[in-house]
Amino acid sequence: MRKRIAAGNWKMNLTATQAQSLTSELVQIAKDEYTGQGLVILAPPAPYLPLVHHLIKDARNFFLSAQNMHQEESGAYTGETSASMLTSVGATYTILGHSERREYFGEDEALLAAKTNKALAHGLKPIFCVGESLSEREAEQTLEVVKKQLSGGLFHLSAEQFAEVVVAYEPVWAIGTGRTASPEQAQEVHQYLRTLITDHYGSAVAQETSILYGGSVKADNAREIFLQPDIDGGLVGGASLKSRDFAEIIKALG
Ligand code: PEP
Repeated sequence: MRKRIAAGNWKMNLTATQAQSLTSELVQIAKDEYTGQGLVILAPPAPYLPLVHHLIKDARNFFLSAQNMHQEESGAYTGETSASMLTSVGATYTILGHSERREYFGEDEALLAAKTNKALAHGLKPIFCVGESLSEREAEQTLEVVKKQLSGGLFHLSAEQFAEVVVAYEPVWAIGTGRTASPEQAQEVHQYLRTLITDHYGSAVAQETSILYGGSVKADNAREIFLQPDIDGGLVGGASLKSRDFAEIIKALG
């Protein structure tokens, strides 16, 4: 059975005190109200990784993720964070290829393939994001775009390596805009991604791959999105910053 996952990407938000309160509240609510088998992955800003790790380490099914990672082992890369630094503070996942990284930091397929290799070499599981812009959707290029991103970033991996990856479909036009893909629009792309994975790695691997939807997932729309057969949970930005809202999204995993 592939894993169902609610991942919270806090982006560049919150003070340490706020991060502490949010994490403690979430752990408590999940303990009291969530009995399902879904995984909860928190991706705080890098300085708060040790703090959040400390607060979730004994919580059932909670995991820590970075939001990004450098592709080199170590060295003169001022301001960057390496895979071994992330694992040393308890991270087991890292988001890679978020559209904000692609757009504002020029991350392309070759760089993301290198980051993926480095993450996996250190036992960090990538949450690898793909998704089209509004103009690409309007030009009916969605499937072509996500195919290029998925294959360019990941299809050099062995099946064994690919089995460690979580894929996230995040249409750029739906991120932080309050505009969500309809469950049917999202399902169409998720199904296509799973078909691509089947064609490349075979059906056993594809059926075990968790594919998350991201783009304005909220407490009140999570359930219908997560009901789609190829959607295994969500990568959530804004709504992951409020414990009650994110807890409802966790519960929507079932
Ligand atoms: C994201 O940052 O990955 C995201 C999906 O953001 P939001 O939920 O705010 O649209």
